[in-house]
Amino acid sequence: MRFASLGSGSEGNALVVESGGTRVLIDCGFGIRSAAARLARLGLEPSSLTAILVTHEHSDHVGGVPAFAARHDIPVWATFGTLAAVSARFEGMTGVYGFDGHDPFAIGALEITPVPVPHDAREPVQYVIGDGARRLGVLTDLGVSTEHVEASLSGCDALVLECNHDLAMLENGSYPYPLKQRIAGRLGHLHNEAAADILARIDTSRLTHVIAAHLSQENNTPELARAALAAALACTPDWIGIAEQATGFDWRQV
Ligand SMILES: [Zn+2]
Ligand SMILES: [Zn+2]
Repeated sequence: MRFASLGSGSEGNALVVESGGTRVLIDCGFGIRSAAARLARLGLEPSSLTAILVTHEHSDHVGGVPAFAARHDIPVWATFGTLAAVSARFEGMTGVYGFDGHDPFAIGALEITPVPVPHDAREPVQYVIGDGARRLGVLTDLGVSTEHVEASLSGCDALVLECNHDLAMLENGSYPYPLKQRIAGRLGHLHNEAAADILARIDTSRLTHVIAAHLSQENNTPELARAALAAALACTPDWIGIAEQATGFDWRQV
């Protein structure tokens, strides 16, 4: 199994995972040309994607999905709640499939386990993706962790983990108070220490990759995110990868 990011943050997200000839894109918050250019950087053609999995209806995740999927004839999977929230955007499209956020399913060689998360969307999920031998956990866009989230991520071989903000930077930053409250709230985004707490509570014995993702450009730095996660894992900060907004991250082999 290998995975890579096309970019991550409030300006757009997309992550590609592949194993055994199946290649899925999780979210596409980029326009058609940008997404194709970002895939090309990873050596991929859009038409080589087996499916697109959507996490939730926020524009930085679903914004580019309808046009990209229609242009390249790629099937789309999203929870029934997400589809209800974006039905207008997918109107007239074929190859759009709904699922319940609690039900695992398979796409080709990949086992897709949706993980419901607390976030201010209709039926948001994140994903654990397995190929029978290895499992990748992808967790962004949640306000707080839950027992179910941690049970799902426990024992994964690789994790992409939201480190949205540093709490002090958010509190002291320039965002208006209501926005600060939304981000820090139960249905907002995970801060560095909360992400580190997840690592401290789950089984990390199989972990070979940890990537900090969805970093706020305004309220976080890669150094702070790395330091928080490294402290939880007792590893050196440079072992923690960063999913950049502009460049994502390059292929990681699991
Ligand atoms: Zn997001
Ligand atoms: Zn979101």
